[in-house]
Amino acid sequence: MHDLIPKQGDGAVAERAMQALRRSFDAENRDKGGVPDPTNHFVTKWRSNPFTRGSYSYVKLNSGGPAAFDDLAAPLADGRLRFAGEATFFDFQGCVHAAYESGVRESSAIIAQLADLAGLSPKL
Ligand SMILES: Cc1cc2nc3c(=O)[nH]c(=O)nc-3n(C[C@H](O)[C@H](O)[C@H](O)COP(=O)(O)OP(=O)(O)OC[C@H]3O[C@@H](n4cnc5c(N)ncnc54)[C@H](O)[C@@H]3O)c2cc1C
Repeated sequence: MHDLIPKQGDGAVAERAMQALRRSFDAENRDKGGVPDPTNHFVTKWRSNPFTRGSYSYVKLNSGGPAAFDDLAAPLADGRLRFAGEATFFDFQGCVHAAYESGVRESSAIIAQLADLAGLSPKL
């Protein structure tokens, strides 16, 4: 469907979506004249939007597998620059829980680093 957008425009995408809805729901709504036309439509363009350039992370075939996520998560500057986010957590890639878990991972590491600097043992 995504490749249809630049070629045929938003109207064609909306029409395809309506065809799918009508296939599924026209019969049970026949007494009301079937699924009505939409009053408007909005087509998201995650792939071409310069602020997103895609919807969520994935690893291309033969390009590293789970290790690619670990590479993105690798801290820099002796652990003073750290990275969280969905694309850094392989187990739940593509999901909000990956973003959440990565935040827990990084904040725990920061607390441990600060405790280490202060000579304390963190209670996590
Ligand atoms: C269409 C769609 C449907 C989805 N559906 C689901 C779902 O049903 N369930 C689910 O669990 N997950 C879903 N997801 C995935 C989920 O939204 C992401 O996994 C999650 O938002 C990732 O969180 P994040 O904090 O890693 O990144 P983001 O939420 O992308 O946050 C990154 C933030 O950084 C900001 N940013 C980027 N560059 C800069 C910069 N240079 N300077 C300052 N700020 C910057 C961005 O504006 C953004 O606010 C969906 C995603 C999409 C696109």
